[in-house]
Amino acid sequence: MSTEKIPLAGVLGSPIAHSKSPQIHMHWLKTYGIPGHYIPLDVGPDDLSIVTQTLPKMGFVGANVTIPHKEAILKIADRVTDRATLIGAANTLIFRQDGKIHADNTDGVGFIQNLRSNAPQWVPSSGPAAVFGAGGAARAVVSALLEVGVPEIRLSNRTRVRADALQAEFGHKITVVDWVQAGNMVDNAHLLVNTTSLGMMGKPALRVPLDGLRPGTIVNDLVYAPLKTQLLAEAEKKGCAIVDGLGMLLYQAVPAFERWFGQRPVVDTATRVAALR
Ligand code: NAP
Repeated sequence: MSTEKIPLAGVLGSPIAHSKSPQIHMHWLKTYGIPGHYIPLDVGPDDLSIVTQTLPKMGFVGANVTIPHKEAILKIADRVTDRATLIGAANTLIFRQDGKIHADNTDGVGFIQNLRSNAPQWVPSSGPAAVFGAGGAARAVVSALLEVGVPEIRLSNRTRVRADALQAEFGHKITVVDWVQAGNMVDNAHLLVNTTSLGMMGKPALRVPLDGLRPGTIVNDLVYAPLKTQLLAEAEKKGCAIVDGLGMLLYQAVPAFERWFGQRPVVDTATRVAALR
């Protein structure tokens, strides 16, 4: 009988049944013949600290962190990467051999890689980006856009103070626009990103007027259920290049899988199919 330890990973959240991470990681484990497991872990806020400290002792090499723990986990980790500190949230934990817990945020990496793969014509420095929303996902998107050299970000959010806070934090390249005028931001924008939950199954539709959208503009919705949101359908009709949100979810999982299991996984059609199961 083999005495080799089977590496474990999982996702900490509550509720957790909706998470697609188990399908994605189990698909890669199977594809690469790695004898590991990836488990959904329904953990409430009161137990987050004790469970996180215990996982490495049970054979876990790491974990993902999702709603509602993405911010709270920063206080539990021994070390937080610069990008997770900047975003103010972590989605990936690495349990190191020395017992230390490292927290990182790979949402920005996933967001950019999704655009690079599905809209390779996009040149970040070529022009302004318009971003709807100023929640947790928007923080990752804005910091990633600035990192790759987008010269101007127009930002609009229903609750303006949240957009103003992002502007104060991330600086002069961000211009805040009132939510009622959000449609004006798309004029001449090279990239439009929806980071709000509007358009998601069970949520209201995104009703921002998009008359200013030009053919060729790249439009990305972070919402991936449904895959083709009303925003993407309308943008497609106007001749825009559309990118759905599923790719971001897949690409944010790549660095975590590589760190935990020692194999860089490939995002392909089979991975998309597995995530949608
Ligand atoms: P969040 O922190 O709760 O932020 C929600 C955002 O949606 C805020 O900007 C909020 O505006 C806005 N919003 C919600 N209801 C609204 C309404 N009725 N009218 C106008 N604005 C509304 O959530 P999050 O973590 O940023 O996630 C946002 C979306 O991105 C979700 O759909 C999530 O599934 C998706 N997401 C996808 C990926 C991916 O990998 N594809 C990764 C992360 C997130 P207020 O500030 O005014 O409330």
